[in-house]
Amino acid sequence: MEFFIYNTLAKKKEVFKPIKNGKVSLYTCGPTVYDFSHIGNFRTFIFEDLLKRWLLHLGYDVTHVMNITDVDDKTIKKSIRLKLDLEKITDKYISEFMSDISWLDIHPADYFPKATDYISDMISMINNLIRNKMAYVGEDKSIYFDISSFKNYGKLANLKLTKDQKTNLKGLQDEYNSNSPRDFALWKARKKNDGNVFWDSPWGQGRPGWHIECSAMSTKILGNHFDIHCGGVDNIFPHHENELAQSVGANGKNFVNYWVHSEHLMVDGEKMSKSKMNFFTLKDLKEKGFSPQSIRYQLLSGHYRTKISFSLAKKHESDKIINRITDFHLLLKKMGADEMHGNELPEAYEKFKKCLNNDLDTSGAIAIFFGWMKSTKRNFYGEKNERYNIRAAWNFTCVFDSIFKFIKHDSFEIDSEIKALLVKRDEARKNKDWIQSDLIRDQILKHGWIVQDTKKGQEIKRK
Ligand code: AMP
Ligand code: ZN
Repeated sequence: MEFFIYNTLAKKKEVFKPIKNGKVSLYTCGPTVYDFSHIGNFRTFIFEDLLKRWLLHLGYDVTHVMNITDVDDKTIKKSIRLKLDLEKITDKYISEFMSDISWLDIHPADYFPKATDYISDMISMINNLIRNKMAYVGEDKSIYFDISSFKNYGKLANLKLTKDQKTNLKGLQDEYNSNSPRDFALWKARKKNDGNVFWDSPWGQGRPGWHIECSAMSTKILGNHFDIHCGGVDNIFPHHENELAQSVGANGKNFVNYWVHSEHLMVDGEKMSKSKMNFFTLKDLKEKGFSPQSIRYQLLSGHYRTKISFSLAKKHESDKIINRITDFHLLLKKMGADEMHGNELPEAYEKFKKCLNNDLDTSGAIAIFFGWMKSTKRNFYGEKNERYNIRAAWNFTCVFDSIFKFIKHDSFEIDSEIKALLVKRDEARKNKDWIQSDLIRDQILKHGWIVQDTKKGQEIKRK
């Protein structure tokens, strides 16, 4: 079965074929560390996590690089506003980002390069571009990439450039929209507004433009030609278009085989973003009682190439779904499935795999898993309680969890407070003190556990 993925450059789904057999080189644009990431950013990072987990499941050896943008217009602006050294700001938000991705169970990258550690690689790329007559020194002493020198400029973002648009409109701002393509800054000459953020270069003091940062870090670590480059759709233009032009221009080689972009997370019909002040951070959601699994479910249940809306109102529904699969996993454990042997998988796994191999159709794959889980549970309560089914169910559930990470593993441990309450309640029941027994039951419920009295005694399951 082949894995198909939508390639923004080809504008169609393509069979994934790695450059080196069995290996995948993956670069994902990471956070700009001037503030907390919001869950719009995490939609993209969780999608990339799913892609990576699927590649790992298919047996590839994945080398993953996620950069940290620790110098750009936004980081500098914040450090000037707060009158703090750039590093002080960026260190804080790097550490916040690392704890956020760990909480969300995002598989850490093999490399997290910081742009400020790669300045000399950026300078040598810019030198190559000047040598290849694709970059020039502007009147302001900044270095610009000449977009008219790159034949395929605009292909990734599907721009139809007129001759006028290809002539010498210079821009120092890193972000601009696709209606205003222009020669963009590779190196920005030192300005007063940049405070003490500058490096020496052959063209005088200054700092890199945003786009050259990712070109230098990706090619330095993964080589000039690598397999997959990801980001959110807002990265297509200008960031990735410019990265592509300058990387091919400097290295004279193919750059990336598959460009993969995920759609935006929306709020009231608009992109979630800091500038619109319509965002939630993980801290906001933790305060509202969201679990990482519930957030992952909301962000992965829609296909990555469709816009989705995050909704606080959907918390109840997503919690219920997460509990259902966690309880199923717990049930299998109680049946001893984890101690059985064998790699068998149920038939439903093939359908599940087909969905994910079809451009990561997560909604299809989740629907198949839950449909299968429902009917399997029914069988367990009926006659067909055979070892084969139990072990196969366990294996499929583990595979599902290794890709989606929806199971609440920590909830398998009943903490000592609940254990003590259960002992107290048991005593109350032995003494036929039904009022006390019900009071303790309500107390346990407040901790998120439902107590059931069965022939074997008290059993508890999560709410
Ligand atoms: P930044 O920290 O701004 O550099 O963004 C990090 C990543 O988040 C980039 O890949 C962006 O494309 C992505 N991103 C930003 N806003 C959203 C959003 N509302 N939905 C999905 N991805 C987003
Ligand atoms: Zn980037």
